[in-house]
Amino acid sequence: MKRRKVLQNLSALGSLAAFPEFSSGISRQPAVAPVRKIATEEAFTIPEIADAYREWINKEGVNLDRLVLKQIYDTPDARLAASNTDVSNRDRAALGMLPKLLDLDAIRLSDMEAGGVSMHILSLTMPGVQVFEPRQASALARLANDRLAEAIRKQPARYAGLACFAPHDPQVAAKEMERGIQSLGLNGFIVNSHTHNLYLDDPSFSPVLEAAEALNAPLYIHPRAVSDGMAKPFQDYRMEGAAWGYGIETSTHILRLIFGGVLDRFPKLQIVIGHMGEGLPFWLWRLDFMGSPGARAGRKNQLKPSEYFKRNIFITTSGVEDPVALRFCIDKLGADRIMWAIDYPYQPTAPAVAFIETAPLSDVEREMIAFRNAERIFRISR
Ligand code: MN
Repeated sequence: MKRRKVLQNLSALGSLAAFPEFSSGISRQPAVAPVRKIATEEAFTIPEIADAYREWINKEGVNLDRLVLKQIYDTPDARLAASNTDVSNRDRAALGMLPKLLDLDAIRLSDMEAGGVSMHILSLTMPGVQVFEPRQASALARLANDRLAEAIRKQPARYAGLACFAPHDPQVAAKEMERGIQSLGLNGFIVNSHTHNLYLDDPSFSPVLEAAEALNAPLYIHPRAVSDGMAKPFQDYRMEGAAWGYGIETSTHILRLIFGGVLDRFPKLQIVIGHMGEGLPFWLWRLDFMGSPGARAGRKNQLKPSEYFKRNIFITTSGVEDPVALRFCIDKLGADRIMWAIDYPYQPTAPAVAFIETAPLSDVEREMIAFRNAERIFRISR
């Protein structure tokens, strides 16, 4: 092995607290030029949707998402950030999460520049348009997709994006998905888990799944707070969000698609999930034991859960910067099914960048996870 190679590998090992036995005296700096980085789960919104959330969260009977949304959209800082008052970008960026969600220009680009991030694959932030009634949801989806396409046209090297849609307006949604790919040139779709407490295995959503499969573009299933039927145990200690509820909500969604036979009906559907697979890779052995065709629960699906996983599902590293979890997922799923993500602006850029630059990976694995898989799966051309 060449010396440069050895140094490179040592450097990769040395940066991690998880491998203290290797870390003493070894530089934390990567030994070579930083790898190209495409971040695959990067959030944005538009003012019209921010305004609509502000109205929605103060209604009676809305779900647990209101707890987080109130903090982002309905504080004095958020109101100032959303106003047209003359505030510089720098001041605006200090006003909580909303300015960064709303910005597809100076604030975001300078954060990317500072972190050495080549590209954001943008998606409308949770809970998307799905909380609104169908007509309003479809209108806002169209508007968000137009704005997204415009931002990409201005910065084609820095941005790609996923089209949103209103699943509960399924015929219109399927048309919007087609427009998103064929007219706007977007790279896939985003859905923020349940829609009015229904999951995509509900037969009413079939047109959406048909469209995603026919257009041959990946569907990113992003978390939101758990649906109302399982809300209570999550609410007491504020577990409905990123700490726990998001993962349970989204992993449950995926298992409904598997056990509900959706992936038998749509065998070519390509699904992306974040947060290192929302815990599911760790469960695959047990899922196969209990959930294989003909297993003790009388499963009738065509494949084992892990076989669907390796056929239909990709994962991203958003919000999980743990090299041990990453290595496990590579061993379990293959490096070709994993993409790097930051989860901007909810997660800071610098640690996410340090994670992918220094995780103990081979050069080939690092390039696959940092950008090559994203280019292939989301059809991004340079
Ligand atoms: Mn996210």
